Amino acid sequence: MTITAEVTKRIQQLRKQLNTYSHQYYVLDEPSVPDVEYDRLYRELEAIEGEYPESISADSPTQKVGAPPLASFSQVTHERPMLSLDNAMNENELIDFERKVKDRLKGNLDRAAVLEYACEPKLDGLAVSILYEGGQLVQAATRGDGSTGENITLNVRTINNVPLSLRGTDFPQRLEVRGEIYIPKAGFEKLNQDARENEGKVFANPRNAAAGSLRQLDSRITAKRPLEFCAYSIGVVSENFVLPNKHEEILQRLKYWGLKINSDMAVVQGIQSCVEYFAEMGRKRDGLDYDIDGIVFKINDLDIQEQLGFVARAPRWAIAAKFPAQEEMTLLEGVDFQV
Ligand code: NAD
Repeated sequence: MTITAEVTKRIQQLRKQLNTYSHQYYVLDEPSVPDVEYDRLYRELEAIEGEYPESISADSPTQKVGAPPLASFSQVTHERPMLSLDNAMNENELIDFERKVKDRLKGNLDRAAVLEYACEPKLDGLAVSILYEGGQLVQAATRGDGSTGENITLNVRTINNVPLSLRGTDFPQRLEVRGEIYIPKAGFEKLNQDARENEGKVFANPRNAAAGSLRQLDSRITAKRPLEFCAYSIGVVSENFVLPNKHEEILQRLKYWGLKINSDMAVVQGIQSCVEYFAEMGRKRDGLDYDIDGIVFKINDLDIQEQLGFVARAPRWAIAAKFPAQEEMTLLEGVDFQV
């Protein structure tokens, strides 16, 4: 289909708007619109680019992860890129995800075979990489633009539940742990309460509070913030070190080495069980002591993950099913994902 001047103009408008919002969100930690508005424009751009694939450029927001690191921090090049996740906004999109996975696996998987998924609450904080060498924490970095992040080692060392040394002796010489740094709900309330009493900065939500607290040039400020870390994957690992070939078993190994993993995660069979897990966590969401904006479903078998691989900004073996934003809940009543 030939692209019209009108469509080209809309693409340019959307890219410009999304780049501005991304800069405010990722670089300044000061979003000016709710996530739901960003997601709506993002999806509009994705749909147009889907219709006119020749319009896709490498610098389109649909092809990029996060934003470049701040120049005020030294930079860390990720040995393995830190990617984003594709999103599912309703049950049909989740079912469609499994259908695409099975199509892609074709001959290697019986169509009727049941896929196993690790289901993990999607913590609303920011992704970090923590590198251990010889069991000692030597480096920590933000995701940045996926290839290069900010060196936040001193700040991460102040977080109480991040071990400076791994437990045991049977860990790989090099181990990169990836996970989310976030502020639990109670800590967030207290932080804002203190800010109001002392005319300090009041944060819009726990995600911004976590990002603003972590990306401080003075680690003494970070040390005063109620940050926590929860591990959800690994990056580089010493060659020849044999790890389990199930994602969930790797997480159990991280737990054994002293890292926190999410105790609400589950392993289920088939996409319908994922839909049920999503509904159950939606019911529990308000009672959790941390904020979540969805559930991440990952194919548990690492051999299957490897066969599926990645696209530009996300793995093909995982999907983030998002909860409807609180302010949209009433408007969306009756939508499949309502819980
Ligand atoms: P994402 O938040 O949709 O998903 C990827 C991220 O999920 C990972 O990087 C990680 O930080 C996090 N995560 C939490 N738990 C995880 C788990 N168990 N396993 C793996 N990852 C887990 O993607 P993104 O690229 O970080 O951000 C895109 C989203 O950010 C958008 O959907 C939008 O809602 C929001 N955003 C908002 C604005 C705004 O102006 N309001 C601007 C830009 C982006």
